[in-house]
Parts: sequence; C-alpha cells; structure tokens
Amino acid sequence: MDYKESDPFYHRKEWKRVRAQALARDHGMCCDCMDRMKNETGIRPNRATMVHHIIPRSERPDLELCLENLRSLCAECHEKNHPEKRSKFHRMKKERQNAHTMRVIKV
Ligand SMILES: [Zn+2]
Ligand SMILES: [Zn+2]
Repeated sequence: MDYKESDPFYHRKEWKRVRAQALARDHGMCCDCMDRMKNETGIRPNRATMVHHIIPRSERPDLELCLENLRSLCAECHEKNHPEKRSKFHRMKKERQNAHTMRVIKV
C-alpha cells in the first residue's frame, strides 16, 4: 500500500484535496473493478477505499499530487497493483518461519 500513517505526505491538506478530487472523478468506485466490469459479466464493483499512485511516488515525486496519476481502488485491487510489496511480505513470512525452525532445531 502507498498509505503509511508515518508518512507526513498523507497528512498534507494538498493530498487530502487531490485525493477527494480523484474519488469524486471516479464516482467513489474502484477503477480496476469498473474496467473488469466492462469486459466480464457478473462483476460487482467495489467502492474505492484508497487512492493509488499509478507511477509510484518514489519514481516521480513530482506527480504525487497530479490527478492524472491517481486511481481510486478498492483494497483488493490495490493489493494486486503492488506485487512487489506482496512478495516482500511473503519473504518476511518465510524468514520468520525459518527463524522458528532454527530455534526448534537448536532446542
Ligand atoms: Zn476493485
Ligand atoms: Zn498503491
């Protein structure tokens, strides 16, 4: 997720304003769900719960407040937009498991 409580960016009023504009533009609906709905039948779009940066802030901080770089997404679709963070999470989980195994062997 882009959203980090610790990042002061997400507490800035400029962000809150542009975030609200993005949600209004997308009618508060998840853009990925809406796209999928156009191609498949039986899709029920979710309401957007977050606003995602299409080009990450780490790459283009100059676009962090650019409406064209923002996309309203539901939590599920947002996670799919961040495979790099998901793999990191799995790696961490694996490391924890390894640490556990090592401890068991030691005992
Ligand atoms: Zn969605
Ligand atoms: Zn994101």
